[in-house]
Amino acid sequence: MAQAPVGDDCFGDDPSVRLLEDICAELFGKEAALFMASGTMSNQVALRALTSPGDEVITEERYHISYFESAQSAALSGVSLNTCRTSDGILRVDDVKSRIACKPRGAAYAQVSVVFIENTINVMGGKVFPLPAMKELYAYASGKGIKVHLDGGRIFNATLAAGVALEEYGKYCDTISACFSKGLGAPFGSILCADRQTIAKARRFRKWYGGALHQAGIMAAAALYALQHHYARLVIDHENARLLAALLLENRGLDLDPTAVETNMVYFDVSGLGISAADFARAAAAQKVLLFPWTRTHVRAATHLGIGEEHIYEAAWRLQRLSSQLELEALSTLEHGML
Ligand SMILES: *Cc1c(COP(=O)(O)O)cnc(C)c1O
Repeated sequence: MAQAPVGDDCFGDDPSVRLLEDICAELFGKEAALFMASGTMSNQVALRALTSPGDEVITEERYHISYFESAQSAALSGVSLNTCRTSDGILRVDDVKSRIACKPRGAAYAQVSVVFIENTINVMGGKVFPLPAMKELYAYASGKGIKVHLDGGRIFNATLAAGVALEEYGKYCDTISACFSKGLGAPFGSILCADRQTIAKARRFRKWYGGALHQAGIMAAAALYALQHHYARLVIDHENARLLAALLLENRGLDLDPTAVETNMVYFDVSGLGISAADFARAAAAQKVLLFPWTRTHVRAATHLGIGEEHIYEAAWRLQRLSSQLELEALSTLEHGML
């Protein structure tokens, strides 16, 4: 980062940013790319570029765009999200059809302009959105003049886990975003890739949103380093997640499905210990194991850069000890109550 050649990206002459954008456009098989401050900015700028106020966006209710960005989408793009809850987290053609059919679509009413999907799917434990489902969705949407945005916050994990090239994912969506600050471990940034015309629009909105940066090459250099050095190693995170799941499975109080671990996350249910996910995460943090309480019953463990196999064994052991303590406490409260 210290040695990065920089210019002023507001004038489009920062060589490090240009290099990163060119490399990413090529990786995803798109005409152009735009460096963004965050994944949220990529999603919001993409929505703004693809929609008009009053339009509707169809998505799964638990994808990032709905779970964390519904207010932003309404306020910044003036769109409403038409969401559904799928059984397996994968938004399919039939789901989209039923969302379209659920209300009148005459010229006076809301028009669907975007289908918004996510890969990997965070809430499903980092599950890969399968390429065949993407193909079907894209074929259907294109036929209806609806754009498809792929929120690829963790697309680098998906591509390695599924053995599908990034370019393949790029083929079956109009716009695609990818984060450098997730598994790749860079301190900053995301990329939005699309055709030239959409990226030109996105460049304008990025400026509006305050995301046009000057010597951004410093950050682009970190993203380039992450792409070169931390991409292939994501498979280690996947192995570590599988190992953690296998070790936690030995624990009676924790409920988890090891077959759900496709990439770098392990979700598990702690309600069997008679404790909320938030309380469990707090207790684990006191043992220096950091977990995210995702719902009231489930916590998420994510493996990442800087976590080795030895840390996985240590974390599993500490969680095991914690669960045993909690089980004993629950038992003694029960006995106390009976006396
Ligand atoms: C993290 C993430 C985002 C948002 O990225 P930020 O850089 O935190 O704004 C969007 N979508 C998905 C799927 C993510 O995982």
